[in-house]
Amino acid sequence: EAKRNGPASCCAYTPELRRELAARLATESRLREAVAADRIDVHFQPLVRLTDGSIHGFEALARWKLEDGSSVPPDVFIPIAEEAGLISDLSTHLLRRACRTALTWPSGLILAFNISPLQLVDILLPERILAVLAETGFPAHRLSVEITESGFAADLERALDIIGRLREQGVRIAIDDFGTGYSSLSQLANFPVDKLKIDRQFIANFLTSDKQMKIVRAIVQIGLGLGIATLAEGVETEEEHRRLRALGCQLGQGYLFAAPMPADEVATYLAGLSDPGAP
Ligand code: C2E
Ligand code: MG
Ligand code: MG
Ligand code: MG
Repeated sequence: EAKRNGPASCCAYTPELRRELAARLATESRLREAVAADRIDVHFQPLVRLTDGSIHGFEALARWKLEDGSSVPPDVFIPIAEEAGLISDLSTHLLRRACRTALTWPSGLILAFNISPLQLVDILLPERILAVLAETGFPAHRLSVEITESGFAADLERALDIIGRLREQGVRIAIDDFGTGYSSLSQLANFPVDKLKIDRQFIANFLTSDKQMKIVRAIVQIGLGLGIATLAEGVETEEEHRRLRALGCQLGQGYLFAAPMPADEVATYLAGLSDPGAP
């Protein structure tokens, strides 16, 4: 019992650990404030058709900028939001913002939106998403929800139920970071998926690594065989673009085309693409 052991044994924190914990709690409370005040921004990165360079849509990517001008990357604050129980609220705010922005785009463009694996155990997720679509008037068939393979790990049946209910309403489903998580290969055949996003780690060196090339080729072939579009993440060079196109990969995303941009730059970006006089 703690009492018998005295106060020292229950508080074996080192000063560093205590500082870390304090910093973590401070970040968490700042995030809580930012979510409540709807201060988390959304940037957009184009998803490009590799055959002709035309735009399929944009992926919404969360951005958190602090008062001092520095920013916290989503890889850092999304896990904090998950642990703090904020992810559902944050996600609703972000989706609302992203849908409002996407309504200003040409009507053929898709909005891709990331869902955290934790949200795939939330049976109310479909209702939450559909409520935002109803509220903003954004059409379900223009929304593509991105989920990672780890989203199926916790409770596969429930994840399938959630995905099925979104699909019934016309929402598209993409598997994000494909190839890095639990293999859902056995699930793909009876799984209502529209798109496989080939993880950036494969694209980063498939030109120099024969093994990575074989993996990318195999994923594209699975997609072609099952009628699921494949998208290459992190396309950075013309040569990567050319080779991916030759493999039959339909879509790409990466700095070669454009980095994620603020909402108000999307229109200028689109205008530049269709302007034949543009560089
Ligand atoms: P993701 O969904 O795989 O998003 C792609 C990431 O790759 C983005 O990082 C994007 O900026 C980056 N990227 C795109 N093209 C290139 C490239 O050519 N080279 C390199 N090196 N990187 C590229 P970002 O924006 O930092 O987001 C990181 C991750 O955070 C996302 O990975 C996603 O898992 C998560 N995330 C972002 N926004 C949200 C959100 O609203 N909700 C949830 N649940 N997760 C989010
Ligand atoms: Mg994504
Ligand atoms: Mg990804
Ligand atoms: Mg990724």
